[in-house]
Amino acid sequence: MIEGLVTKAISEYYFVNANAKNYLCKAKGKFRLSNAPAVGDRVIIKEDDINGEGRIEEIIDRKNILVRPRISNVDYLIIFLSKKSPEVDYLMIDKLIVNVRNLNIEPIIVVNKTDLDNSSLKVDYRGIVSNVFYISVKLEQDIDQFLQSLKEGNYVLAGPSGAGKSSLLNYIAGLSLKTSEISEKLKRGRHTTRHIELIKINDKTYIADTPGFQSLDVESNIDLVDLPHLFFEEVDYKCKFNDCAHINEPHCEIKKLVDTGVIDSNRYQNYLKIYSEIKERRKVW
Ligand code: GDP
Ligand code: ZN
Repeated sequence: MIEGLVTKAISEYYFVNANAKNYLCKAKGKFRLSNAPAVGDRVIIKEDDINGEGRIEEIIDRKNILVRPRISNVDYLIIFLSKKSPEVDYLMIDKLIVNVRNLNIEPIIVVNKTDLDNSSLKVDYRGIVSNVFYISVKLEQDIDQFLQSLKEGNYVLAGPSGAGKSSLLNYIAGLSLKTSEISEKLKRGRHTTRHIELIKINDKTYIADTPGFQSLDVESNIDLVDLPHLFFEEVDYKCKFNDCAHINEPHCEIKKLVDTGVIDSNRYQNYLKIYSEIKERRKVW
């Protein structure tokens, strides 16, 4: 029995990377439909020495799981944008940030297409998310610096269509193809494939290729009571009321920080929009 990582799932087959080898596995009968293994799962497999096959016996408890695309144990979400074509949707960024924080995922931001527009984002996200990068996939500029910054864990890309996600993934796949033994196999599959796959950046770091998934709707069903602290998680504040919604309450420190410009007012406006969206959603029920 060995432990491995599910890097790809195609119908009833799972590709499991364990001990630096790839095993083609089926799952034990007890794993059906909703509790089937997901890409990103750490699993215990029983290996069949003869031909690199195996069987998934156990799924190790997940840290989290996204539904669309179905991928588990996500550590980081790369919010992938461009300043131009398409333009930045700041509300989308702030929604993604709270949704992934709610799933215990750390957001980072990558702004692509600096060859078209190399100005900074209107909102300074450097104190809000742990990292912000500006790159040009087209010119292959500053990508390596970004890739080298990646930590141990599983990364997922999210962002509007047209920002350059596939271009980046093609670039990364190209890097690994140069050294990969299974390059021919990958090359054939690359442009036609529609399945989710974890691409290896190094021994500890994987990035998910999730074709067709824009991740604009990373839903995490945030409770209204959780939004105020999730949204301003990076701010050190203490309002008069512990459950302050930062809207109409007296002695609200968040509102003071907005007034003094410490918190970007655009971001505060997005907070109000998200707050009322969640409130409306509640009314339906
Ligand atoms: P996706 O929808 O996010 O996967 O975006 P694509 O990778 O399909 O890219 C959308 C378009 O943007 C394509 O025409 C790419 O060639 C182009 N593109 C990608 N990266 C860059 C870049 O750094 N600069 C410029 N100017 N265009 C880019
Ligand atoms: Zn407050």
